[in-house]
Amino acid sequence: MVTPEAESETNWTSLARAMRSLPAGVKRWTTKHVVGMCGVGKFKVRWGYDTSAACPCCGEFKDHLHIPRCMAPSTSAEWDRRIVALDSWLETQVTDPAIKHALLSPLKGVRDPSLPSIQVVPGRLRSAFQSQQCIGYQGLLEGKLSRQWAPLQEEYLQSRGSQRSPTLWASRLSHQLILLGFQMWEHRNLVLGGQCTVTRAQPTGQQRDTQPV
Ligand SMILES: [Zn+2]
Repeated sequence: MVTPEAESETNWTSLARAMRSLPAGVKRWTTKHVVGMCGVGKFKVRWGYDTSAACPCCGEFKDHLHIPRCMAPSTSAEWDRRIVALDSWLETQVTDPAIKHALLSPLKGVRDPSLPSIQVVPGRLRSAFQSQQCIGYQGLLEGKLSRQWAPLQEEYLQSRGSQRSPTLWASRLSHQLILLGFQMWEHRNLVLGGQCTVTRAQPTGQQRDTQPV
């Protein structure tokens, strides 16, 4: 659910552009995932496809919010890999290093709500940072960027004499954030299908489901 405050803070233009550029399967997954209605344990039990709502990675109760927050070692390793990849991608897009840090910090907050602190961002970025916090960590993982980031990135690009488009930067970043959420979903499917080693026994009665729904 999007609060009125988060709605007014979100860069909907970049999100819409990102959505248009997604492959059809990821687009379909995204529209269901943002309302929590995808093939995770809670819904599979409700629909009669499964007898357990337990996460295949850690065994805890599982809804769509659990997938990126799962603390199983394999999920943690996958998350860390994806964050490193996003960090590198932000570098290739000539992202202001302070913006990069201010965006990766809230992403860490997805798995650790005690993070981040506004103290980690410089004063010029604090309004954007607070705006992003208003949208929420889950919102960020759904590609919802604060509308304040693109003008700040534009300032940085201008200071470097770059002709790159901050608008394109924002929509590509929204795209990358949605893919991050989707890749965590795919990881969960690999574990469910027995294609990924986990440190706990696989729960019984799980069915393979590698397709986004
Ligand atoms: Zn789990």
